[in-house]
Amino acid sequence: MFDLIVKNGQIVGESNVVEANLYVKDGRFAAISTEEMPARETVDAAGRLVFPGAVDPHVHFNDPGMTEGEDFYTGSASAVAGGITSVFEMPLTDPLTQDEPSFLLKKSEASKKSVADFGLYLALTPDNSSKVGKLMELEPIGFKAFMSYSPEIPMVRDGELLAGMRAIKAANSRIAVHCENNEIIAYLTKELEAAGRRDPRAYTESRPPYAEWEAVQRAVTLATITGVQLHVVHSSTPEGAEIVARARAAGHPISVETAQHFLFLDAEDFQRIGAFALCNPPLREPGNADRLWAALQSGEIDCVATDHAPYTIEEKLRGQDSVWTTPAGLNHIQTANQLLIGEGIKRNVPLTRLAQLFATMPARLFNIYPKKGAITIGGDADMFLFDPEEEWTVVPEHTFYKQKWTPFAGMKVSGRVKRTWVRGTTVYEDGAPMGAITVKPGFGRFIPGRTGTASA
Ligand SMILES: [Zn+2]
Repeated sequence: MFDLIVKNGQIVGESNVVEANLYVKDGRFAAISTEEMPARETVDAAGRLVFPGAVDPHVHFNDPGMTEGEDFYTGSASAVAGGITSVFEMPLTDPLTQDEPSFLLKKSEASKKSVADFGLYLALTPDNSSKVGKLMELEPIGFKAFMSYSPEIPMVRDGELLAGMRAIKAANSRIAVHCENNEIIAYLTKELEAAGRRDPRAYTESRPPYAEWEAVQRAVTLATITGVQLHVVHSSTPEGAEIVARARAAGHPISVETAQHFLFLDAEDFQRIGAFALCNPPLREPGNADRLWAALQSGEIDCVATDHAPYTIEEKLRGQDSVWTTPAGLNHIQTANQLLIGEGIKRNVPLTRLAQLFATMPARLFNIYPKKGAITIGGDADMFLFDPEEEWTVVPEHTFYKQKWTPFAGMKVSGRVKRTWVRGTTVYEDGAPMGAITVKPGFGRFIPGRTGTASA
């Protein structure tokens, strides 16, 4: 007897889409068959797509220490409502996740609150590379470093990044790097501020694409030298991804993600929306998104990540008068993949490719595949039902975000997540005007980071 049958859906596998029944037992995918076999619970999925649960390799849930903006419950609730069943949370919290006490504190908070499964990053700072080996006992999903200034994590200079990469290579883990050239940004910002500029356009000009490309090239060079597994986060342009693609083609374990907001918003939207669309790297010029879509389809970009980075409405409002005074980050984890799938279908991106981008590839790159990231027999039954026909409009008040704002407010979406499962248990069910979380806080489990390079 199976625990669950999801009947007559279009099951999106790694290489094909089949109309069949999907069976779950003991929290795992147990069978895919056109036969009907007995199960305790039946869900009719006729006309719907059954996708593997998305693995979001880049989220900020602000917990602990900055929970006015989001916490592990509201963040993970928003995630599962958007089909995301596993999240990798960044170390930019208070205290910074950089040592054993801060890591264990976050793990404990997340274990009490999360409704999605979660992996946790450790910060690579200017002075903790000698501790990397010992920190591996905590089973981080990876290490995160910033090449440019952030108010929440000390940036690393090139020598420190080199030292960190050596240590992380020796520990057989991986490093995710925020690539922007700090010197260029600092110089341009000073120049624009001196000229009295404080409008969104000035922010765009202060962080040009070349400041990103230069840093991507530098990170890739150091990764090539050290042999470390490098993941370039939120590449905003196809040129940045091309640098990674060349290194990957030469056999280096280097990957790149882009974030969904670069696919749907541009510098013109930033002008219109203001500080609520301010992020790093900034939104790029119109036309850039079409080229990113091409890179997603061709495989030059490995995967997508939301980089969901919430701040309070008050913090964002500060920037409406001056872009220099607002924190960078966007609320959008709940809508990110729903937008991606709807638009992807319109652009004739194969459903299998979409599933690779938001589920299979991140799971492979972080070495948790096939337990996560695919509808594979024996893997965790993480999945979501998607109705490709439903049209709806993004309303911030109908999200689980702690702070009810998003730059996607008012955007029309084609297709909607109807139900989400984590390890075979329904965690989210859609409803009008918004759905509900169907498990208690703390249902989510820690995903231990595994050593070894990508199984891609
Ligand atoms: Zn981020």
